[in-house]
Amino acid sequence: MIAVSKPRVLVIEDEPDILEVITYNLEREGYKVIACRNGEQGLSRIRTDNPDLCVLDLMLPGMDGVEVCRQVKSDPVTRAIPVIMVTAKGEESDIVLGLGIGADDYITKPFSPRELVARVKVVLRRGPLRDESAGDRIVRGGLTIDLGRHEARVDDELVNLTPTEMRLLHFLASHPGRVFPRAHLLSRVIGENAVVTDRNIDVHVRALRQKLGAQANCIETVRGVGYRFGEVEKKA
Ligand code: CA
Repeated sequence: MIAVSKPRVLVIEDEPDILEVITYNLEREGYKVIACRNGEQGLSRIRTDNPDLCVLDLMLPGMDGVEVCRQVKSDPVTRAIPVIMVTAKGEESDIVLGLGIGADDYITKPFSPRELVARVKVVLRRGPLRDESAGDRIVRGGLTIDLGRHEARVDDELVNLTPTEMRLLHFLASHPGRVFPRAHLLSRVIGENAVVTDRNIDVHVRALRQKLGAQANCIETVRGVGYRFGEVEKKA
């Protein structure tokens, strides 16, 4: 029998009660938790302990979560460690993700322990954000996206998409489960110089969903933030 080491999750949270709840629930799920109370300590433990994932509170005394994340993601040694940012209700999740600090996901307080554990599982399974790879086929329900051919099919029927819709679907589907703010999608899909508002992306999403018909739900709306492509079925 091979001993499988437990995934190690480093949690940075200054509120003792929340830290305790997070630690308890992650340990109960079989994770090894490294608990840190501030950003400086957390960052130094990330560098020495090389955890599998970091749950990082945004609002911390001293070095805040944004700065910790920025440093983790700008260091080639720690860059691949996924970071889940914890934001309080009312803080701009848009800003957190839009800052380009490279957080892999976020969760909003108050959250249920179950919700957090689910997020941790998804992010660990997904690993670090991968590059878009041409030639990949993504299958989700009756939807097949051929990234190499820039082709989408619903139940084997070719779907007639505009180039913008195809780029949007291609981009989202290349990063299943990852949330992208509208502004990010706009710059990736339409271009930095486009004279458009954030809501413009909603128009494209609406049109895309209409064309995808029965598979429209592959593009999920994340309230107050943007959109994500739903988790892809794992093929054996
Ligand atoms: Ca806090």
